[in-house]
Amino acid sequence: MSSHTIPFNRVSCAGNEFRYIADAIQRGHISGDGFYTKQCHTFLEQQLGVPKALLTTSCTHALEMSALLLDIQPGDEVIIPAFTFVSTVNAFVLRGAQPVFIDIRPDTLNLDERLLASKITPRTRAIVPVHYAGVGCEMDVIMEIAAQHGLAVVEDNAHGLLGKYQGRYLGTFGALATQSFHETKNFSCGEGGALLINDPAYMERAEILREKGTNRSRFFRGQVDKYTWVDLGSSYLPSDMLAAFLYAQLEAHESIQQKRARIWQHYDTQLQSWADEMKVQQPTVPAHCEQAYHMYYLLLPSLAARQSLIAHLKERSILSVFHYLPLHLSEMGQKLGGQPGDCPVTEDISDRLLRLPFYTELTEDEQAQVVAAVQAWEWL
Ligand SMILES: *Cc1c(COP(=O)(O)O)cnc(C)c1O
Repeated sequence: MSSHTIPFNRVSCAGNEFRYIADAIQRGHISGDGFYTKQCHTFLEQQLGVPKALLTTSCTHALEMSALLLDIQPGDEVIIPAFTFVSTVNAFVLRGAQPVFIDIRPDTLNLDERLLASKITPRTRAIVPVHYAGVGCEMDVIMEIAAQHGLAVVEDNAHGLLGKYQGRYLGTFGALATQSFHETKNFSCGEGGALLINDPAYMERAEILREKGTNRSRFFRGQVDKYTWVDLGSSYLPSDMLAAFLYAQLEAHESIQQKRARIWQHYDTQLQSWADEMKVQQPTVPAHCEQAYHMYYLLLPSLAARQSLIAHLKERSILSVFHYLPLHLSEMGQKLGGQPGDCPVTEDISDRLLRLPFYTELTEDEQAQVVAAVQAWEWL
């Protein structure tokens, strides 16, 4: 076996990326909303069955657009899992919202819907479920509670494109949903994202916010004879060259997902008896969820065991990582009122989670090296 470094993530190309970028340049339109951006919009709308998809410069920006669209005001409360990326919460804090951190389930590591009712107050405006590792949150329960209390749901679906819950695509439940096409995600253009709009009431304003607060999109459709400043806004359009790169990946979604599924299954079966013996917990995917194969993680018995396995793999040139530090205990989270013990499952999982190298072009040889290295780890 060769022994080059096995990175945690590597950029994978599906094949047509360079050709499409060159074509975008030849078409003479490399700013936003060109030919390839429209191809991506159509792909997302048709594949998922969402009324409207808009590419954005990142998932972070799609989340910021969501907070603007919901008209989040200072003092509004937004319920967000403590175990997620900072952008999920920052987008709402930027509007002055008070994040209300909710703990996660110990099995799927998704927002624990059983705690939702206890977090709702008269100031609550929205719930932001994150489909961790591309495994669906319990959307039936979440949507029902949201409807009872008149709350908006924004799905942070950065991990979950093409995953399903009860046979329905993730990202199609909430009024709004966000996708990430960052380099580390299943489909990528380096930096990019999308806003999925399921509630048509948000469509027109979303176009305006994304076009610097102007009605430029309506102008291009011939619906108004000049365009002007009509609302808040910013520049959330990616270049069509990025959309060209992304489209090459989206059109190859079947082969990309097949490869990722194979890698995931291989880790899961090859490490099963080792995990049982070492009291390591493997990922839980409920039968009613079709996961998106975003990552493969292990839950070690303790922080010390996790750190030991990371170091052991690093000695063998294999890079494994951990995430997320509990948001309520971060410097910012504590300023917003977070305290130790608020979200005990998040605090525990955050110490014990380890992610193995996982990328579309991970070779069988590389994966065999990772599995052998994990199995060779000794822990007393
Ligand atoms: C990656 C990620 C984001 C941010 O995505 P960007 O496209 O980098 O802004 C947000 N939420 C979650 C859960 C993520 O994993």
